[in-house]
Amino acid sequence: MQHTLHFDNIITQPLYAVWLPQGITLDVLRLDALHDVVSGNKWFKLKYYLAAAQQSGCNTVATFGGAYSNHIIATAFACKAAGLKSIGIIRGERPAILSHTLQQALACGMQLHFVTRQAFKNKQAVKQQFLNVYWVNEGGHGAEGARGAAEILAFAGQPASFTNIVCAVGTGTMFAGLVNSAEASQTITGVSVLKNNFSIHDEISALLIPRTNLPQWQIVHDYHFGGYAKHPAALIQFMQEVWQTCKLPTDIVYTAKTLYAIRGLIQQGAIMPGSRVLMIHSGGLQGNMSLAAGVLPF
Ligand SMILES: *Cc1c(COP(=O)(O)O)cnc(C)c1O
Repeated sequence: MQHTLHFDNIITQPLYAVWLPQGITLDVLRLDALHDVVSGNKWFKLKYYLAAAQQSGCNTVATFGGAYSNHIIATAFACKAAGLKSIGIIRGERPAILSHTLQQALACGMQLHFVTRQAFKNKQAVKQQFLNVYWVNEGGHGAEGARGAAEILAFAGQPASFTNIVCAVGTGTMFAGLVNSAEASQTITGVSVLKNNFSIHDEISALLIPRTNLPQWQIVHDYHFGGYAKHPAALIQFMQEVWQTCKLPTDIVYTAKTLYAIRGLIQQGAIMPGSRVLMIHSGGLQGNMSLAAGVLPF
């Protein structure tokens, strides 16, 4: 794994998909270009947590995640870069062969602690076993994460020129940061990648900074493809087509579902002619390594 981040590589890529009608433009903000393993949005979300850890004089950061977690590898990488130690609490028993994600986290110097799925649910009890560490929520969820994510849009060249901004929603932290930094005239749409996760509306609201002119925002719940990380053949086929026709690599958990949703919203007329759409490609490509070799052409 290379150990530099490439901010200069973050570009907006115009997408010329056959299903894109005349009168609607779609640009993709390629946060994935920041690094080939570290998820773009995760790096932004971690930034202020790590600064807070350093300010508190704590030299170790700990967090939670699964075996393929973009957040785990990003935390391991970002801590190493910041000169901090890191601990990853991993859901489930230690497997005989570690996932690519966990191998790379180890290579960044992260200490891994495996806890049973049952124990993982009781975060407070896990936390009590570690002294003098700075805890970051699973997925980087929280106000400091949203504060970092608010810096994403500035990389879109002329962010105010877009009418619609669309991104994937897990914890909703990135989404909240985007709403906080968007123009009042823009519409921000989040594509929930968890099944029936309706409490996300309140969780996002809690991260919004009150202002008089809040942009319009909404979450769509129809594009999870069966649930978190589920990737039926129809999704894989869509990803192959998008690669072949637009040279855009997407990931099975977040960005492929987001682009699929954009197509659906256009077909339903929810995104109307005249719209200039910006999709946030939040990264996550390392998660595709959980697929068998050769399933994807990129
Ligand atoms: C974590 C992640 C998301 C979701 O971000 P939240 O702030 O948790 O909503 C979206 N895309 C990618 C690639 C991610 O890794």
